[in-house]
Amino acid sequence: MSQILDYRNCPLAYKVRYVLKVEPPCPPSEAMKRGSRVHAAIANGSDLADPGEMAMFERARAFLKTAPPNGIFETSYEDTNNPGCRIGNLHGIPAVGIFDVHWIHPPLGVDWKTGRFKPRHTTQYEIQAYVLNELYHQTYGHRLDAMRFVFLQNGAIFDARCLSEPKSHEVVAAEIDAAIAGIAAGAFERRVRPLCPHCDWWPYCKSVVR
Ligand code: SF4
Repeated sequence: MSQILDYRNCPLAYKVRYVLKVEPPCPPSEAMKRGSRVHAAIANGSDLADPGEMAMFERARAFLKTAPPNGIFETSYEDTNNPGCRIGNLHGIPAVGIFDVHWIHPPLGVDWKTGRFKPRHTTQYEIQAYVLNELYHQTYGHRLDAMRFVFLQNGAIFDARCLSEPKSHEVVAAEIDAAIAGIAAGAFERRVRPLCPHCDWWPYCKSVVR
């Protein structure tokens, strides 16, 4: 699933990472490490030393008090038996997706976001929801009622629309098809954006981007 999202962000970055298989030159950022610690704490129920991280954990706990009991929590990316992990196919290609928490009855999925809700990123959330819903259906034989993104900076919640609105579902399916077709066709153009200086591959790109 992350490959579809990475390709949409920048086809060239996708090529460097997944086709040329170049390891990112920088170690994981502090934000990524913080995200991993918060996700692990929520899954394990263990407290965190950092007050900011603990506040995120508390928001997740508050959300879970309103959620159905007996959620199926992720463990870690390294765990080959991760109960949050669903495997299947997406529009004819192999796909893997990981729920942070999901329930079978009622059919509900949740993804923790350690940042704030960003309206300009809703397509990204919708693609994530679409893929998880497809893989969930292939596993359990029924679809999700809702896929909920919980933003742990302030407790905001975004419910994916593609699960309930046919037009939105169609738009997201077309976005995924376009990414799959672009990868198959070897279309790996640069997508220069204001965030490029924060990209792992910026040292390479800045020599050719004007
Ligand atoms: S620096 Fe920008 S254009 Fe270059 S690979 Fe990264 S996202 Fe793409």
